[in-house]
Amino acid sequence: MRIQNGVYWYKEKGLLDANTYVIKNEITVLIDPGLENYLGLRLEEMQEDGISAKDIDLIVITHLHPDHCDATAALKEVSGAKVALHPSQLEYLDTMAEDALRFLGVEAKTKKFDVDFVFDERLSLGNTELKILHTPGHSPGSICFYASDKKILICGDLVFDKSVGRTDLPFGNKEELKSSINTVSALDTELLLPGHGAIIEGRSDVKRNYELVKTFLTTFF
Ligand SMILES: [Zn+2]
Ligand SMILES: [Zn+2]
Repeated sequence: MRIQNGVYWYKEKGLLDANTYVIKNEITVLIDPGLENYLGLRLEEMQEDGISAKDIDLIVITHLHPDHCDATAALKEVSGAKVALHPSQLEYLDTMAEDALRFLGVEAKTKKFDVDFVFDERLSLGNTELKILHTPGHSPGSICFYASDKKILICGDLVFDKSVGRTDLPFGNKEELKSSINTVSALDTELLLPGHGAIIEGRSDVKRNYELVKTFLTTFF
């Protein structure tokens, strides 16, 4: 589903799946491939928007939980896209998805995938540049993608509509989550695109949501 010129949202399909976002530019990037079971469905939805698997040049991941990265190996194979990770994600590449699944008591395995390159502070897509923010708390390798020209923040499981990411999964950290939310809430954001649930549109609604989750954090965390 197109949400803005060149920006697409594919809603999570069910349990252990996540929202997928595509930014079409000179380089077309797909953020969070989701659960492999739903990859076929997701590719069909993308096709309806005129995006085929082969159009994807790059796959990146907000963090290495299986609901976000399970389909990476399969999508890489059908699309021929490159996979790029942040340095903070490399350390946990081989264990993070399995640790999370074991913690949740799920008998499954996320297929391993090869990483083609590593990016750090920014990722250029052509006309649009994504600024990368390392935002640990929900997981140590959690990152956000910020397109300053579009005022869009893709925030993974850091913050949601009226809620925040859980910190009870392996390597989660409440203090880090708080500090990461403080960091991203300072950005001028008109479109907040989280890993689960609804997207938040409009600067004032995004701002209101940060105020709400910060109250929640100081009260319950
Ligand atoms: Zn997660
Ligand atoms: Zn998630």
